Order: sequence, then C-alpha cells, then structure tokens
Amino acid sequence: MGLSFSDPLDRLLGRRTAKILAESLDLHTAGDLLRHYPRRYAQRGELTDLDALRIDEHVTVLAKVKSAHLRPMRSRRGWMLEAQVTDGYGELSLTFFGKSERALLMHTRQLRAGRIGLFAGKVSQYQRKRQLTHPEYNMLDDLEDTARAVQSFAGQLIPVYPATGKLPTWRISQSVGTLLDQLDYVREPIPASLRNRLGLMDADRALRVIHQPKSLADVEKARHRLRFEEAFVLQVELARRRASVEALPAVARPARAEGLRDRFDSQLPFDLTKAQVTVGDEIAADLAQRHPMHRLLQGEVGSGKTVVALRAMLQVVDSGGQAALLAPTEVLAHQHYRTLRQLLGPLAEGGMLGGSEIGTQIALLTGSMAAAARRPALLAAASGQAGIVVGTHALLEEHVQFADLGLVVVDEQHRFGVEQRAALAEKGPAGTRPHVLVMTATPIPRTVAMTVFGDLWVSTMSELPAGRADVETHVVSVAEKPQYLDRAWQRIREEVAAGQRVYVVCPRIGGDFDNGPETAGGAAAEQADRRPVAVMDVAEMLRAGPLGDVPVGILHGRMAPEDKDEAMRRFAAGDVPVLVATTVIEVGVDVPTASMMVVMDATRFGVSQLHQLRGRIGRSNIPSLCLLVTDTPAGTTARDRLDAVAKSHDGFYLAQVDLEQRREGDILGVEQSGRRSSLRLLRVLRDENLIMVAREAAGSVVTSDPELERHPDLAAAVAELGVEERDYLEKA
Ligand code: ADP
Ligand code: MG
Repeated sequence: MGLSFSDPLDRLLGRRTAKILAESLDLHTAGDLLRHYPRRYAQRGELTDLDALRIDEHVTVLAKVKSAHLRPMRSRRGWMLEAQVTDGYGELSLTFFGKSERALLMHTRQLRAGRIGLFAGKVSQYQRKRQLTHPEYNMLDDLEDTARAVQSFAGQLIPVYPATGKLPTWRISQSVGTLLDQLDYVREPIPASLRNRLGLMDADRALRVIHQPKSLADVEKARHRLRFEEAFVLQVELARRRASVEALPAVARPARAEGLRDRFDSQLPFDLTKAQVTVGDEIAADLAQRHPMHRLLQGEVGSGKTVVALRAMLQVVDSGGQAALLAPTEVLAHQHYRTLRQLLGPLAEGGMLGGSEIGTQIALLTGSMAAAARRPALLAAASGQAGIVVGTHALLEEHVQFADLGLVVVDEQHRFGVEQRAALAEKGPAGTRPHVLVMTATPIPRTVAMTVFGDLWVSTMSELPAGRADVETHVVSVAEKPQYLDRAWQRIREEVAAGQRVYVVCPRIGGDFDNGPETAGGAAAEQADRRPVAVMDVAEMLRAGPLGDVPVGILHGRMAPEDKDEAMRRFAAGDVPVLVATTVIEVGVDVPTASMMVVMDATRFGVSQLHQLRGRIGRSNIPSLCLLVTDTPAGTTARDRLDAVAKSHDGFYLAQVDLEQRREGDILGVEQSGRRSSLRLLRVLRDENLIMVAREAAGSVVTSDPELERHPDLAAAVAELGVEERDYLEKA
C-alpha cells in the first residue's frame, strides 16, 4: 500500500514521534517531512571542523571521542561526566550531570575513546572552552547496527537536517527513511516533456536522492530539480493570475488623434527620452484593451515618470474617461497637482475662461483639506468635470465617486498596500475595472519582479533625460577629518549665493519628536561628541553659526500638512534656500534648482534609500554635490555601503547591493524563519536563470491548458502552495 503526501504523520510514525515533529519543526504530514530537506551532508570520514562552531549555534557535529572522565562535582552534590571530542585538531567538551555515578553509566559506556559519533546541541562557552551540555548523540557504529539506520547511514554521506534539541538529525533521518520505504508514488508536477528537455531528474528519484544520497553530484542534481519545481509551480500560479486578470472586463481607452495628449506632446518644452516613448507606447496599447492594464513602471530616479503617467492619463481623458493619481504623501500630492497644472498650462483649464476648448480640469483631494475646499473637488470628480484627480489616501474613501474612472496611477508604489489598490479598483464604472499603472523608483531586480510582482507586467526606464549634470558624491568622514564638515557648510553658502537650493537630511526629528516614526535606527545612538544630527538641532546649529544670515527651513513628517506644503513652496521659490529635513523628501520631490545635499549620519540609511534621497538633486543641468557624512570608520560594512553609493549612480545596481545584504525573507516581504514554506531551495536572487526558464515554461503550459485539466499533479501542487507564498503574492 502506498503513502500519500497528505497522510498525517501520526499514522505513519506513531503518536510520540509525530508529536515531536509537529511541536518542534511544525511538520504534520508525510509531505511536510519529505520536503524537510537536509541542510547539508556530513562526509563519512571527514570530521566536522570544530573551530568553525559559533557560540549559541545549534549544531550537529561528526567527531571522535578523545577522552571521557567521570568525577564527583566539587561544589555541589552529584556527578559529572566530561568527554572531549575532536576533529583531529580542535576540541569540544561534552558535559553531562547526574545525581549519581550510576545515572551517568549509560553515557560512560557509549562515549569511549576512539569511537566516532554525531553530537547535537547548542554550543556554549565555559572557562574559554566550547562545549555542548547534555548533547543528543548517536555513535556511528550503533547506527549501522540498526536495520533502519543501515539504509540512511550506509552511504558515504550522512544527511544533516535542520533539527532541534528534542529531535536530533538522525531521528529525522530515520523517520524519513520509514516514509521513503512506504512511498510508491511521488507526485510529478513537471510534465515529462519539459523534464526531458531540461534534463531534470524525476520527482521520485529526486526525493530519494536528496534524503539518501550516494554522491554530492547526485545531491546537486536533485536539488536543481526540486528548486526548478518550486519555481515552476509558483510561476504557473502567477501565469494563471495574469490570465484571470486578462479575463476581467475593462473599458478600452484608445488614443485619439488630435486629442489632449497630442496637443500636450506638441507643447512639451523638451523631447521625450527613448525610454519614455517606448514605455508610453506599451501603456497606450494596454489602455486600448478590453481588459484592465496591470503594469508596473519602474524607473531610475529622475527618469521622468510623471510625464509618462500624465500622457497615459490624457489618453484616458481623450476617450471620455477620468484618471486618478494617487500619491503617498501630502507633499507629493500637492507637488503633482502643481506640476501637472504647470505642464498642461491652458489645457488644464478646460471650460474656463481663457482655457483650451478641448482642455480638462485637475482636482486635488487630500485628507487635510477643509470641508469647504473638498466639496468642489468631490463634485468635480463625481460629475466628470475633472478629468484628472490628484490626491492622497483620501481618494480611497467611500464617499469619493467618479463619473467614469478609467485609470488609476499609483505613484511610488512601495508605500501603498494591496487593500488600497483594491479600494480604487472598486471605483470604476459598474461591472468593469479601471486600468492600473503602478510607478516605483525603487528598482526591483528582474527575478524579484517576476516572482513577487509576477502578475504585473513590468516596464523599465533606466535612461535619464539628456543634459543632466552629474551628481558628485563623497563620503565625509568626520572621525578622520572633522574640518571637512566646516567646509561642507561653507559650500552650502556658495551654492545659495549662486541661486541654488540645498537639502540637509537627518535621520531623526529631534526635539520632542524623538522615537517617532521617522527615527532611523533609534534615538539612543547620539555621537559621543554630541555633534547634532537631528532636524531640530541641525537647523538650530546652522542658524546660530555656519549659515548665519541664510534662511534655513525645516521639514518633517510631524508638521501640519499646510506647514509642510508652505515649507516646500518657500524652498522651491528660493525664499528659504536651505531645507533641513527627514526622509519625507525621499520620494518624488522635484525641485530642479536643488544642487546640493548633505546627509547627516548617513550609515543610518539603506543603500537604496540614499540613492533615492540623492535623486532629489541633479534634476537639471546644474552640476550637483552629495555629501554623506559619517563617523563610522573605514573598513566596516556600513562604510562599504556608503562607498558603493558614492561610486555608483545606477539604482538597479545599488538595489542589488541592498538586497544581497538582506535576508531572502525580507525581499519577499515575509519573515521565513521557522515558518513553513514550499520555497525551500529557491533563492530569488541566485536563481535568476532558472526562474526565467520556469516562467516561460509555465506560460506555455497555462496557455495550452488553462485549467490544468491535463496536468492533475501540477494542479494539485499549485493548489497546495503554502499560505506564505500566497501572502507575499498578495502583497504585490
Ligand atoms: P521621476 O521619474 O523621478 O518621478 P520626474 O517625473 O519627477 O522624475 O522628472 C524629473 C524631472 O525631469 C522633472 O523636472 C521633469 O519635468 C523633467 N523631465 C521629464 N522628462 C524629461 C525629458 N524628456 N527631458 C528633459 N526633462 C525631463
Ligand atoms: Mg516621481
């Protein structure tokens, strides 16, 4: 009789073992255990390098007993057995405590000098020696004696599983062996033709090899096959999602010749970049379809996404619909409102005196607006008078209605959740979905885009408009050269004297606001020399000393919305040419005359975040300067990250640097430690090629068999995708 992956472990292994597996490793079914793969393999004859063990680590080591001594304890009653095990070089102590000599007898018999065993436990340190206290262990010759173990230990390779104190790796190995004995059919989600084409091991063999390998080369092949399966099953799910989006109805919004968009193009003061044209065409074609566009536009900072979005919105207005532009902050909503009106000029004054006869209107709706100001905006949206409605989260509220919402543009997507996108999707004309364009300046490596954002189509703009001056970036090490900071303040005066604007970015607000949400890294770590790094303190210091007569403004998230807007406007206008701010300016803020930025305590920010911040300057043809101030000494990882930012202006490269330093779980937006996931072997960054092959293969399977009727094993695997995978897919 065969065994199925969904069979509960208690029937197969007995209550007791099943309970331990469930409690300590969250494994409940045969499938759970069979997909609990060894972390590594110990080579018979090759003892574990004991010097590499780290304190507090849970380890399983293969080592040889060197000596063992049983003695009464000195300060307390009872006995102690201390054994030394060795890898031939280093040593590790094993200690056992017992009430009497007899209580330790069993261990004394086992741990005889010369024997080799597996020892599992948590490494601790006692009198400068590393030790395992009461380790679980199993002597190798014993293992070989037992019938069950012969199977898993006869080979040269001993699988070492992620284990816990209660459940050492050899017990897991034995349980897996029990299951493999009864297993006569393993589900095969990968179609045979694909397997043959790619030279992949079949499912049954891969499973047996990974648990009971004969050689490491076999293990590699088995892992590759299992990794591919993970990618493939996930991509099939994503392909099906894309197909189901394409099945939803939307109103087609084709371009209209001689319309607003054409008029806008002809009055643009600059030429569109090649990237803007290409992406613009992709979007235009999407909008003309009868199913909703679902497109992610990722563009380098300053690549000109706003114009691309505006042209898409105008196309929708041309075909009689409305567009909503959703910004993550009030500051950005106000800025977009001003920018769009400025870019459109008379075209934004449709129906008004002096406006264009084919023009439209733009309405602004934000949470902080007084009821009196909101009413006309709400009316303009509901009546259709406003072709474009710009706003913050306030746009999502239930009472906000549109006459005919055809397109939703979400700017700087990473601040927006799924629920919010969903809320806007509901506002389309009855029975249809609006088209959706999501924009982000935080580049996502292709593979992450293909997994996490797998149900979106992705357009990329890495090109910047011509004529942009360089942003020179330097790391200013105040620990090594404190006088450089004074030079920085002097440089600010020069920029201001030349008619330009300067940002000083701080990791926290200071004053009464500390520990607020804009605190990067916590307030505790003020420098020993009390050099100010918070907005309030830096502004005060600059006003009191180095900048004297230059007006210095502040901007942070805890200010009232109208104060923020005021601060931004006075900065842009040049009344207050220096702005000391938190990361509220991180995304989207566009003041072309800004030519210098000083980032205080720069190691508090992430690599991508620094690149974003730096994107606020160098937005015109004025050469710009970015100074990353730090007192972290050279040669540390934190400093290396700053150097990376100083050396590169490629947001995609820097995103990669950022991601490589973070855990996979963070990339996927889930914390994977301890929790179960069917993505066991796949690593999104490392496995780029594999994911691409899987994506293509998945696409053709779903096209030819959308319901997976001819692929029952694949359908079952997709249906079983863990809660966790779904979770992070939802996050897209
Ligand atoms: P981002 O992609 O970072 O959102 P923006 O849309 O804010 O960038 O554009 C940055 C600046 O570049 C704006 O001032 C915008 O007017 C300008 N810009 C956009 N496209 C072009 C172009 N093709 N040529 C010159 N300047 C452009
Ligand atoms: Mg932008």
